[in-house]
Amino acid sequence: MSENFIAGFTPPPDDGGPSWWFVYCEDKFLVTSDDPPRLPLVRQVAELGLTLEAARYLGLWQGRPTYTISLALATPAPQGYEWHGLYGLAMGWPESLTALGGRAKQVLAWERRNRFCGVCAAPMKDDPKERARRCPRCGLVAYPRVSPAVIVAVQREGKVLLGRSPRFATGRMSVLAGFVEPGETLEQTVAREIDEEVGVRVKDIRYFASQPWPFPDSLMVGFTCKWAGGEIVVDGEEIVEAGWYGPGELPSIPPRSTIARQLIDHVIAGSENLDPGGGWR
Ligand SMILES: [Zn+2]
Repeated sequence: MSENFIAGFTPPPDDGGPSWWFVYCEDKFLVTSDDPPRLPLVRQVAELGLTLEAARYLGLWQGRPTYTISLALATPAPQGYEWHGLYGLAMGWPESLTALGGRAKQVLAWERRNRFCGVCAAPMKDDPKERARRCPRCGLVAYPRVSPAVIVAVQREGKVLLGRSPRFATGRMSVLAGFVEPGETLEQTVAREIDEEVGVRVKDIRYFASQPWPFPDSLMVGFTCKWAGGEIVVDGEEIVEAGWYGPGELPSIPPRSTIARQLIDHVIAGSENLDPGGGWR
């Protein structure tokens, strides 16, 4: 994450100053009505007049303690505040703050899904020393879940392979992506996904960069590769339309804050042979 954020598990002693609060309810965060919206910065979140569950400490953001907390019941936003989803907030927030919001969302989702042991059904308890939930009866340990997925820019003669998922907004195209299956290397996932979705073979698979993608709990691992054979045949389910796009031919593509866009820009800029992946390490 960024130099602005220092991850932590145990809150620092109270110095009387305010804290940042990621207050979460029904997949939205409470933010100020400013443009761009800001996180609440208050000493106690109770000052906002909200009824809350236990807070989780995330670390220090811009030198102040940062907590996340979920509302038990849907509640109107207090005066001067609004509820917004993280995807929309990402448009106006720095990448590091969006990543921190993603961390908050994933920690709360993990807590919600691990109230009871998945093996023996006993109530789980927080581990006092690390971000883990433990079963006092059978010893099962549950950590926050992260689901790795690959996202891939396939390059062919200066063009990039873009496809459209039926889930995308009308007209939107992007590089292809898919979840890692048990037992696979990331490179195997890249080759399998591209073959399954568009029937194309690839070579020269190279790591590019990664981006947490908390919708709900992915880590996007970006790769570039080159076309090695096969013409596009879409699978009709995951991908309903696909093609090769060069500079000046690009359709509607994802915003600059996304790794998808960074991959597309990278291939289109033709910088791959100059310094592969170098800017992202
Ligand atoms: Zn158990």
